[in-house]
Amino acid sequence: MLERGLTDLALNLEGATRAAIEGHVRLLLAWNEHVNLSGLRTPEHVARGHVLDSLIAVAPLRTLGGDNPTLLDLGSGGGFPGLPLAVALPARRAALVDSIGKKAAFLEVAAAVARDLVAIDVLAERAEDLADEPDQREAWDIVTVRALGQIAEVAELGLPLVKVGGHVVAWKSAGVESELADAARIIRAVGGGKPRVIELPAAAKVGLAGHCLVAIEKVRPTPDGYPRTPGERRRRPLG
Ligand code: SAH
Repeated sequence: MLERGLTDLALNLEGATRAAIEGHVRLLLAWNEHVNLSGLRTPEHVARGHVLDSLIAVAPLRTLGGDNPTLLDLGSGGGFPGLPLAVALPARRAALVDSIGKKAAFLEVAAAVARDLVAIDVLAERAEDLADEPDQREAWDIVTVRALGQIAEVAELGLPLVKVGGHVVAWKSAGVESELADAARIIRAVGGGKPRVIELPAAAKVGLAGHCLVAIEKVRPTPDGYPRTPGERRRRPLG
């Protein structure tokens, strides 16, 4: 399935890159018996729902981030979309972030299969705390985010980590307009430009019809005070 999917996405990956992606999938399937990393439990479902859904962004990310961008995957869970993208782009360096310790423990093991290809850090931290660290704030070309929350929250957590000129890229499906409308104010507040919905014509070919990306460019530095604490965000979710 992966083989056919890569052809449908017109992606030509080297043997070592494919081996790293397969190694990650094998580890996920094995660990998932004991640690709940993903609801997808068969090789076919993981290949389509995780690997191809990650790699579908290779072409748009190359356009947005140029050659070898630095990439941080926020709320990486079982390592998607960050790990396959880090090796496939390839990224200059990458970080996989998850606040849950046992997920970060898995990410450490999974990242080891790719370290010959790209330098990958695993950070067991909350995005809010990371954004206060001087070497992480405004440090990354691309921040990817899949299944972490609504665009308002994704923008508030992701944009502080992105360099001016870089992008937060969120995985979404058709019908994002109301989320985008809700997010307009907070996106401006944290230094984002007008979001762009990137349609993915190849998605339907690989069984992912309706999937799209939302890219938000950072046009100004994020003011101090953002991201707000989880309590403040709950009180005023839209900023
Ligand atoms: N991106 C993966 C996992 C999505 S689930 C995928 O698409 O398959 C969301 C993940 O984000 C969870 O693993 C959760 O632990 C993590 N997460 C949620 N809020 C976070 C925060 N504020 N900082 C860091 N990680 C967070």
